[in-house]
Amino acid sequence: MSRVSRSRAHRARLGLMRARSVLATSRVMASTTGGLFFVSGSLGVVLATQMPDGPPGDLDVVFALAAAAVLIGIGLVVWGHRLRPAHHHALVAGGTIILTATIYESTSPVAAVALASLYISVAIDVCVFFNWLPATAHMLFAVTCCLAVFAYLPDTPWWAGLVASGATVGVGVAVGLLSRLASDAHVDALTGLPNRRGFDRALSAHVAAAERHGSRPALVVLNLDRFHAINDKYGYRSGDEVLQLVVRSWLPVIGPEDVLARPGGDRFALLLPDGDEHGALALVDRLRATISQGCSAGVTAWQPGDSASFLVSRADAALYRAKLSGANRTVLEPAGRVPLKVELTGAITNGEIEVVYQPIMDLTHSGTIAAVEALLRWAPPSRPDTTTVEVIRAAEESGLISELDQYVLRRACSDAHALQRANTDGPLTMNVNVSSIELATPGYVDSVATVLRETGWQASQLVLEVTESVLDVDTPLATDALRELRRRGIRIAIDDFGTGYSSLSRIQTLPTDLLKLDRSFVSTITPDAPTPPLLRAIAILAIALELPVVAEGVEDEAQAETVKSLGYSFAQGFHYGRPQSLAEMIATLGRLASIAETE
Ligand code: C2E
Ligand code: CA
Ligand code: CA
Repeated sequence: MSRVSRSRAHRARLGLMRARSVLATSRVMASTTGGLFFVSGSLGVVLATQMPDGPPGDLDVVFALAAAAVLIGIGLVVWGHRLRPAHHHALVAGGTIILTATIYESTSPVAAVALASLYISVAIDVCVFFNWLPATAHMLFAVTCCLAVFAYLPDTPWWAGLVASGATVGVGVAVGLLSRLASDAHVDALTGLPNRRGFDRALSAHVAAAERHGSRPALVVLNLDRFHAINDKYGYRSGDEVLQLVVRSWLPVIGPEDVLARPGGDRFALLLPDGDEHGALALVDRLRATISQGCSAGVTAWQPGDSASFLVSRADAALYRAKLSGANRTVLEPAGRVPLKVELTGAITNGEIEVVYQPIMDLTHSGTIAAVEALLRWAPPSRPDTTTVEVIRAAEESGLISELDQYVLRRACSDAHALQRANTDGPLTMNVNVSSIELATPGYVDSVATVLRETGWQASQLVLEVTESVLDVDTPLATDALRELRRRGIRIAIDDFGTGYSSLSRIQTLPTDLLKLDRSFVSTITPDAPTPPLLRAIAILAIALELPVVAEGVEDEAQAETVKSLGYSFAQGFHYGRPQSLAEMIATLGRLASIAETE
């Protein structure tokens, strides 16, 4: 297809989408048009049996034309969904011509007037399914045929077709307006695509059809990457234009039966009623090729027993993994896979989540372990390659993060006793991570207190690590919780410090006892840059503010030497010890104790 005709096709189809109701897929169009052909044809056949034989018309021709309309109607109901919108124009025009010829050949003026009322069905069809412009053209054609045929018929006055013509236009416009009003609630005004409500309806209808006919619809959810940056940088108007451009680029690529929708924001959904997963993957590649903007996609296919919402959650899970794995990618969530959320719930209930411990070294007393950080480990049986960060995000998205964090906290605090017994260097601190979502949950502070009471672990030996982002945004619930935790003797560490936006000057006012400098800073220590200026500056400021800092991600001897010489109080990283099981960590502490004894 040439570029020009392609872009015309975009516009035409965008227009069509606006004009027709959300459920007006090729299948609905075909069965409605087919039904109208069938009913009109059948009425023609009945009239033909009642009409007197003889001039001016030809009863055999009337009969043949009416029978042809019946057959076309049946054909359309059965196979019509394979037709493209352009074919429907030809069919409707053909129907008008057949009707006009039937009137012309009818042998009675009364029958001719009666048949003329069938032009109304043409108007209903075109005003519901077509844009106003082609619909008006079809109605004008029908009215012209109606008036012309009565002008030609010898036994009827020219005005015999006037009522049928007027009713055709009147009923057509009324039906067109009403159907547009009804479908407006299901259409996104910006793109003309079905909105969330429209898509949910279409999806439910297709899932019901799949259950009846055994088809296997595929669902794709798409999300434009970094779209908010366009809105932020160039304004919402530009953002809107990008969305419209994307829709115009995608519409020519999708099939006539496929339903593309914009459920909201920069999120799109594409339903392929007869596609399989692999067809959907190939289609997403083609969609991505039409736009310069990056876009992530999640793909899944329906399988018997899946509800519409289950299908959406599976596609969402895939989209989420696509985003997490670097965006501008497609991830397939094979049908039949249990959603991560379900697996995670089971794992928490059955105690299948493991907790490992990584040592945090006290640099002021070389060789001693000041604390251990509890890190969760869980490999979902269906996706053994899932990372801890992915598990945390999935738990946050599915509302399971509180349960998960509570589980880890309880395990860590009860394991802490055994670790403390193995550590002869004095009190050992247990560091536990807290999701920002969890922190803002009412009752969180009390739940921590309950865990401490039940496990018998001291508040003064617990550090809760929260990421810097919690403090970027002013969430009073979270900051209030931090203050209350500190009041009860629990220390707070700002995790991954330096990856957010808080300035060191703000640190003074934050409810924090400790900074954990993100490992990206330590990774800048190289043989060429043995003491990176930023690392040095942070150390100087932290010392001035009397804020202890843990340098994270120390992987080799040179990095260990640097952070120590710069005055960092603590360090953590593979160089000192990898995250290890409780038994391994007890053994490590025991080894250090025996070294200390022999020294
Ligand atoms: P984090 O809190 O920054 O934890 C440190 C992460 O860095 C751990 O990854 C650890 O294995 C890794 N790491 C430690 N030393 C080194 C090093 O020298 N080099 C490198 N390259 N990596 C090192 P992990 O266990 O995969 O955890 C990832 C993140 O998941 C954690 O980052 C934390 O934000 C989160 N997380 C882990 N457990 C929990 C939990 O129970 N609850 C919550 N809410 N988040 C958790
Ligand atoms: Ca941490
Ligand atoms: Ca960290």
